[in-house]
Amino acid sequence: TTSSIKTVNPATNQVEKQFDVMSEEHIEHILASAHGAFQQWKKTPFGRRATLLHNVAAIMRDRRDELGKLCTLEMGKLHAEGVGEVQLCADIFDYYADHGEQFLADKPLETAIGSAFLSYQPIGVLLSVQPWNFPFYQITRSAAPNIMAGNTMVLKHASNVPQCAAIMEQIFIDAGAPIGIYTNLFVPGAKVSQLIGDTRIKGVSLTGSEAAGASFAAEAGKHVKKSTLELGGSDAFVVLADADLDLAVKTAALGRLWNAGQVCVSPKRIIVLAEVAEAFISKARAIYENIRIGDPLDPSTQLAPLSSEKAAQEIIQQVETAVKQGAKLVYGGHRVDRPGAYMEPTILTGIKPGTAAYSEEIFGPVLCVYAVKDEAEAIALANDTVFGLGGTVFGTDTAKAVAVARQIDTGMVYINHTTGIAAELPFGGTKNSGYGREQSLAGIHEFVNEKLIRIT
Ligand code: NDP
Repeated sequence: TTSSIKTVNPATNQVEKQFDVMSEEHIEHILASAHGAFQQWKKTPFGRRATLLHNVAAIMRDRRDELGKLCTLEMGKLHAEGVGEVQLCADIFDYYADHGEQFLADKPLETAIGSAFLSYQPIGVLLSVQPWNFPFYQITRSAAPNIMAGNTMVLKHASNVPQCAAIMEQIFIDAGAPIGIYTNLFVPGAKVSQLIGDTRIKGVSLTGSEAAGASFAAEAGKHVKKSTLELGGSDAFVVLADADLDLAVKTAALGRLWNAGQVCVSPKRIIVLAEVAEAFISKARAIYENIRIGDPLDPSTQLAPLSSEKAAQEIIQQVETAVKQGAKLVYGGHRVDRPGAYMEPTILTGIKPGTAAYSEEIFGPVLCVYAVKDEAEAIALANDTVFGLGGTVFGTDTAKAVAVARQIDTGMVYINHTTGIAAELPFGGTKNSGYGREQSLAGIHEFVNEKLIRIT
């Protein structure tokens, strides 16, 4: 077949497995079953929902090595990163199993007339569209809170991670999920807009590119459906004058290589004071000169291939354009001489406003270092982007670092750490990075009806 839904191992560029796009009848059957399952699931007590999520967590934990390997096979990440991701997913399922009921407990309201409270009620079938960069985590942070809340879900994963997509559905079934609680859809991205209009789908969420998100949300708006979007980012990593420079360099340089740089909250723009810029860059270069690039299943490998040949070509192209437009290539910038979607860890400096590298997200292992004269300029530069996802402030005076963090226009700022992920913390952005939150109290409230009940 010539299906776009297939596993291509990025470490070899070999096609491993292909899947057929689902027929209209098959999709109809899935939607009907998800809708039917919701009629029961919404009435299922929290305790039973929690048991399902705990079972999912236990299966993932047991199978973490195998599931981690599947991530590596399909999108190339380091095996240890895949295993860590699966463990995090198990923690997230457990967390929402343990805390969902409390997050969704009735909330009394102050009123002068009688009494009133909010009741949080599930809304129905959710359509969740997810990207390939964290094949299990992206699904989990969408599924765990929302299924705990009593919704059912149809999941459309990225076309390059179909085996992860299929196995997640199987894990739910093995965990005892009634049919229709969580179902995988094999449809191409271009066909998703048809699904949004289906009256059985009550809420939609997408993580991915700005282009996909904008068309997705436009379609949702047309059909008056609640949507959340988690799109790209171009996170700033601001190094204040009092920062521990060695720790800042190490955190930024290695953080940028996490998942081969394919993380929406990767530290993409490093902002340092001019007086330390040279030292920062030479220390970062020393780290990158010693990075071991290779087989992502080999535990000694530090930098894995990109997710696909196309992705590698695109990032190299972005680096070449940056250099043509005046940036300085300090290190890397080339493909690696071996089969697979590999590129070198790369450092760019001297990127000027108005150039592509200044404004675009670079979804690969490219550390862009900017020198500024003072803190005010650092904050202005950090905010001079259409994106607003995460960010980092590095400094030893915590109060000062927090004061700077408050002035950064993003959904998340981490002090002395790269922007990260934890079961109990919210995730999401502002500006063109999207809207809405996943995880935490905020996330579990996105797709519930916050119903007012007033008693006279
Ligand atoms: P896409 O946005 O194309 O893909 C993300 C998901 O959306 C996939 O499941 C995809 O399906 C689906 N999709 C694509 N087009 C549409 C559409 N019109 N309507 C509905 N769903 C759609 O991202 P890419 O994988 O192409 O990556 C491109 C860029 O996106 C990256 O360079 C990065 O900037 C950003 N990105 C951000 C991520 C994040 O975590 N925020 C994660 C991944 C990418 P299909 O695979 O079938 O096309």
